[in-house]
Amino acid sequence: MDLDIAALGFRFGDDFALSVPGLRVPTGSAAVCIGPSGSGKSTLMQLCAGILLAESGLVSLGGVDWSALSERERRLRRITAVGLVFQEFELLEHLSVLENVLLPYHVQRDLPLDEQARERAVELTRAAGIEGLLRRKPRNLSQGERQRVAICRALVTQPAIVFADEPTGNLDPRTTQAVFDLLRSEVRERNATLMMVTHDHSLVDAFDCVIEFETNPNGSIARERTR
Ligand code: ADP
Ligand code: MG
Repeated sequence: MDLDIAALGFRFGDDFALSVPGLRVPTGSAAVCIGPSGSGKSTLMQLCAGILLAESGLVSLGGVDWSALSERERRLRRITAVGLVFQEFELLEHLSVLENVLLPYHVQRDLPLDEQARERAVELTRAAGIEGLLRRKPRNLSQGERQRVAICRALVTQPAIVFADEPTGNLDPRTTQAVFDLLRSEVRERNATLMMVTHDHSLVDAFDCVIEFETNPNGSIARERTR
Protein backbone atom coordinates (compact mmCIF):
# COMPACT_ATOMS: atom_id res chain seq x y z
CA MET A 1 0.00 0.00 0.00
CA ASP A 2 1.37 3.44 -0.98
CA LEU A 3 1.93 6.14 1.62
CA ASP A 4 1.64 9.71 0.34
CA ILE A 5 2.17 12.94 2.22
CA ALA A 6 1.78 16.43 0.78
CA ALA A 7 2.20 19.78 2.54
CA LEU A 8 1.56 18.21 5.93
CA GLY A 9 1.26 20.58 8.89
CA PHE A 10 0.64 19.48 12.46
CA ARG A 11 1.07 21.02 15.90
CA PHE A 12 0.65 20.17 19.56
CA GLY A 13 -0.69 23.57 20.65
CA ASP A 14 2.21 25.99 21.10
CA ASP A 15 4.56 23.19 22.16
CA PHE A 16 5.55 21.56 18.93
CA ALA A 17 5.10 21.94 15.17
CA LEU A 18 5.90 19.43 12.43
CA SER A 19 5.88 19.95 8.70
CA VAL A 20 6.47 17.47 5.91
CA PRO A 21 6.55 19.15 2.48
CA GLY A 22 6.19 15.93 0.51
CA LEU A 23 6.88 12.26 0.81
CA ARG A 24 6.02 9.08 -1.07
CA VAL A 25 6.70 5.54 0.11
CA PRO A 26 5.49 3.18 -2.63
CA THR A 27 4.00 -0.28 -2.09
CA GLY A 28 6.59 -2.83 -1.10
CA SER A 29 9.32 -0.37 -0.21
CA ALA A 30 10.83 0.43 3.18
CA ALA A 31 11.46 3.88 4.64
CA VAL A 32 13.41 4.72 7.79
CA CYS A 33 12.94 7.83 9.95
CA ILE A 34 16.00 9.24 11.68
CA GLY A 35 16.53 12.40 13.71
CA PRO A 36 17.05 13.75 17.20
CA SER A 37 14.82 12.86 20.12
CA GLY A 38 11.77 15.12 20.24
CA SER A 39 11.91 15.95 16.53
CA GLY A 40 8.52 14.38 15.81
CA LYS A 41 9.28 10.88 14.53
CA SER A 42 6.65 9.20 16.72
CA THR A 43 4.22 11.99 15.89
CA LEU A 44 4.67 11.34 12.15
CA MET A 45 4.11 7.60 12.66
CA GLN A 46 0.84 8.38 14.43
CA LEU A 47 -0.21 10.75 11.65
CA CYS A 48 0.55 8.10 9.03
CA ALA A 49 -1.39 5.46 10.99
CA GLY A 50 -4.42 7.74 11.30
CA ILE A 51 -4.16 7.99 15.09
CA LEU A 52 -3.49 11.73 14.85
CA LEU A 53 -4.98 13.88 12.09
CA ALA A 54 -3.08 16.50 10.12
CA GLU A 55 -4.02 20.13 10.62
CA SER A 56 -3.31 20.91 6.99
CA GLY A 57 -2.17 18.99 3.94
CA LEU A 58 -2.65 15.36 3.10
CA VAL A 59 -1.69 12.00 4.57
CA SER A 60 -3.03 9.11 2.57
CA LEU A 61 -2.66 5.34 2.50
CA GLY A 62 -3.54 3.60 -0.74
CA GLY A 63 -4.94 6.88 -2.07
CA VAL A 64 -7.31 7.38 0.87
CA ASP A 65 -6.78 10.54 2.93
CA TRP A 66 -7.18 9.87 6.65
CA SER A 67 -9.04 13.17 7.02
CA ALA A 68 -11.77 11.99 4.66
CA LEU A 69 -12.75 9.15 7.01
CA SER A 70 -14.97 9.13 10.09
CA GLU A 71 -13.51 7.98 13.39
CA ARG A 72 -15.16 4.59 12.97
CA GLU A 73 -13.86 4.20 9.41
CA ARG A 74 -10.38 5.13 10.58
CA ARG A 75 -10.45 2.51 13.30
CA LEU A 76 -11.61 -0.15 10.87
CA ARG A 77 -8.99 0.78 8.28
CA ARG A 78 -6.28 0.78 10.92
CA ILE A 79 -7.18 -2.67 12.19
CA THR A 80 -7.47 -4.21 8.72
CA ALA A 81 -4.69 -2.50 6.75
CA VAL A 82 -2.13 -1.20 9.26
CA GLY A 83 0.33 -2.98 11.54
CA LEU A 84 1.74 -1.00 14.45
CA VAL A 85 4.76 -1.66 16.63
CA PHE A 86 4.73 0.92 19.40
CA GLN A 87 7.79 2.39 21.04
CA GLU A 88 6.60 1.03 24.41
CA PHE A 89 5.43 -2.37 23.03
CA GLU A 90 2.02 -1.97 24.77
CA LEU A 91 1.72 -5.64 25.70
CA LEU A 92 -1.13 -6.52 28.07
CA GLU A 93 0.36 -8.03 31.21
CA HIS A 94 -2.60 -10.22 32.14
CA LEU A 95 -2.62 -11.96 28.75
CA SER A 96 -0.30 -14.74 27.57
CA VAL A 97 2.13 -14.30 24.67
CA LEU A 98 -0.27 -16.03 22.27
CA GLU A 99 -3.22 -13.91 23.44
CA ASN A 100 -1.13 -10.77 23.03
CA VAL A 101 -0.23 -11.73 19.46
CA LEU A 102 -3.93 -12.35 18.70
CA LEU A 103 -5.06 -9.14 20.40
CA PRO A 104 -6.18 -7.38 17.17
CA TYR A 105 -8.83 -10.08 16.81
CA HIS A 106 -10.15 -9.48 20.32
CA VAL A 107 -10.53 -5.73 20.04
CA GLN A 108 -12.23 -5.73 16.63
CA ARG A 109 -15.34 -7.74 15.77
CA ASP A 110 -14.81 -7.21 12.05
CA LEU A 111 -11.78 -9.49 12.20
CA PRO A 112 -12.81 -13.10 12.71
CA LEU A 113 -10.53 -15.08 15.00
CA ASP A 114 -10.52 -18.30 12.99
CA GLU A 115 -8.20 -21.27 12.73
CA GLN A 116 -6.16 -19.54 10.01
CA ALA A 117 -5.45 -16.59 12.25
CA ARG A 118 -4.37 -18.88 15.08
CA GLU A 119 -2.10 -20.83 12.73
CA ARG A 120 -0.59 -17.61 11.44
CA ALA A 121 0.07 -16.43 15.00
CA VAL A 122 1.89 -19.65 15.85
CA GLU A 123 3.78 -19.56 12.55
CA LEU A 124 4.94 -15.99 13.22
CA THR A 125 6.12 -16.81 16.73
CA ARG A 126 8.06 -19.72 15.24
CA ALA A 127 9.74 -17.41 12.73
CA ALA A 128 10.49 -15.05 15.63
CA GLY A 129 11.96 -17.85 17.74
CA ILE A 130 9.48 -17.41 20.59
CA GLU A 131 7.19 -20.39 19.88
CA GLY A 132 8.26 -21.96 23.19
CA LEU A 133 6.90 -19.00 25.14
CA LEU A 134 3.27 -18.91 24.00
CA ARG A 135 1.77 -19.47 27.45
CA ARG A 136 4.07 -17.09 29.32
CA LYS A 137 3.05 -13.69 30.62
CA PRO A 138 4.97 -10.67 29.29
CA ARG A 139 6.57 -9.94 32.71
CA ASN A 140 8.44 -13.24 32.41
CA LEU A 141 10.05 -12.28 29.10
CA SER A 142 13.27 -10.47 28.23
CA GLN A 143 13.15 -7.13 26.39
CA GLY A 144 14.04 -8.83 23.11
CA GLU A 145 11.32 -11.43 23.57
CA ARG A 146 8.73 -8.76 24.39
CA GLN A 147 9.77 -6.84 21.32
CA ARG A 148 9.28 -9.92 19.16
CA VAL A 149 5.79 -10.44 20.60
CA ALA A 150 4.94 -6.87 19.61
CA ILE A 151 6.21 -7.49 16.09
CA CYS A 152 4.24 -10.74 15.72
CA ARG A 153 1.12 -8.89 16.87
CA ALA A 154 1.68 -6.15 14.28
CA LEU A 155 2.02 -8.73 11.49
CA VAL A 156 -0.68 -11.26 12.40
CA THR A 157 -3.44 -9.46 10.50
CA GLN A 158 -1.26 -9.39 7.35
CA PRO A 159 -1.33 -5.60 7.11
CA ALA A 160 -0.55 -3.87 3.82
CA ILE A 161 1.60 -1.31 5.66
CA VAL A 162 3.59 -1.58 8.89
CA PHE A 163 4.71 1.28 11.13
CA ALA A 164 7.40 0.36 13.64
CA ASP A 165 8.54 2.96 16.17
CA GLU A 166 12.05 2.12 17.39
CA PRO A 167 11.31 -1.62 17.35
CA THR A 168 14.91 -2.41 18.27
CA GLY A 169 15.40 0.26 20.95
CA ASN A 170 17.11 -1.15 24.07
CA LEU A 171 18.17 -4.37 22.38
CA ASP A 172 21.74 -5.66 22.13
CA PRO A 173 23.27 -5.60 18.62
CA ARG A 174 22.64 -9.28 17.89
CA THR A 175 19.01 -9.18 18.98
CA THR A 176 18.59 -5.90 17.10
CA GLN A 177 19.67 -7.56 13.86
CA ALA A 178 17.46 -10.62 14.46
CA VAL A 179 14.37 -8.55 15.32
CA PHE A 180 14.93 -6.27 12.34
CA ASP A 181 15.50 -9.20 9.94
CA LEU A 182 12.23 -10.76 11.07
CA LEU A 183 10.30 -7.56 10.49
CA ARG A 184 11.95 -6.87 7.14
CA SER A 185 11.50 -10.37 5.76
CA GLU A 186 7.87 -10.75 6.86
CA VAL A 187 7.01 -7.42 5.28
CA ARG A 188 8.96 -8.13 2.10
CA GLU A 189 7.42 -11.57 1.66
CA ARG A 190 3.96 -10.03 1.36
CA ASN A 191 5.06 -6.95 -0.60
CA ALA A 192 3.84 -4.79 2.27
CA THR A 193 5.20 -1.31 2.92
CA LEU A 194 7.37 -0.57 5.95
CA MET A 195 8.07 2.68 7.75
CA MET A 196 10.32 2.45 10.76
CA VAL A 197 11.98 4.77 13.28
CA THR A 198 15.45 3.91 14.50
CA HIS A 199 18.52 5.46 16.09
CA ASP A 200 20.59 2.54 14.91
CA HIS A 201 22.61 3.75 11.95
CA SER A 202 23.80 0.22 11.15
CA LEU A 203 20.26 -0.55 9.95
CA VAL A 204 19.82 2.45 7.67
CA ASP A 205 21.43 0.90 4.57
CA ALA A 206 18.75 -1.81 4.47
CA PHE A 207 16.08 0.78 3.56
CA ASP A 208 14.98 2.13 0.20
CA CYS A 209 14.47 5.62 1.50
CA VAL A 210 15.68 7.69 4.47
CA ILE A 211 13.49 10.37 6.04
CA GLU A 212 15.51 12.90 8.02
CA PHE A 213 14.05 15.04 10.79
CA GLU A 214 15.54 18.44 11.49
CA THR A 215 14.62 20.79 14.31
CA ASN A 216 14.71 24.57 14.09
CA PRO A 217 13.13 27.36 16.18
CA ASN A 218 9.89 27.17 14.20
CA GLY A 219 9.49 23.44 14.72
CA SER A 220 10.54 20.29 12.94
CA ILE A 221 10.70 19.43 9.31
CA ALA A 222 11.01 15.96 7.79
CA ARG A 223 12.38 15.38 4.31
CA GLU A 224 13.49 12.48 2.21
CA ARG A 225 17.27 12.32 1.93
CA THR A 226 18.44 12.20 -1.64
CA ARG A 227 21.29 9.84 -2.35
P1 ADP B 1 10.39 11.73 18.71
O1 ADP B 1 9.61 10.48 18.50
O2 ADP B 1 11.13 12.20 17.50
O3 ADP B 1 11.31 11.62 19.89
P2 ADP B 1 7.79 12.85 19.38
O4 ADP B 1 7.04 12.76 18.11
O5 ADP B 1 7.48 11.84 20.43
O6 ADP B 1 9.37 12.91 19.06
O7 ADP B 1 7.53 14.28 20.03
C1 ADP B 1 7.75 15.47 19.32
C2 ADP B 1 7.45 16.65 20.25
O8 ADP B 1 6.07 16.70 20.53
C3 ADP B 1 8.15 16.58 21.59
O9 ADP B 1 8.58 17.88 21.92
C4 ADP B 1 7.08 16.11 22.53
O10 ADP B 1 7.31 16.61 23.83
C5 ADP B 1 5.84 16.71 21.92
N1 ADP B 1 4.64 15.91 22.20
C6 ADP B 1 4.48 14.60 21.96
N2 ADP B 1 3.23 14.19 22.28
C7 ADP B 1 2.58 15.29 22.74
C8 ADP B 1 1.25 15.54 23.22
N3 ADP B 1 0.34 14.56 23.27
N4 ADP B 1 0.95 16.80 23.58
C9 ADP B 1 1.86 17.80 23.51
N5 ADP B 1 3.12 17.63 23.06
C10 ADP B 1 3.48 16.40 22.68
MG1 MG C 1 9.62 8.65 19.49
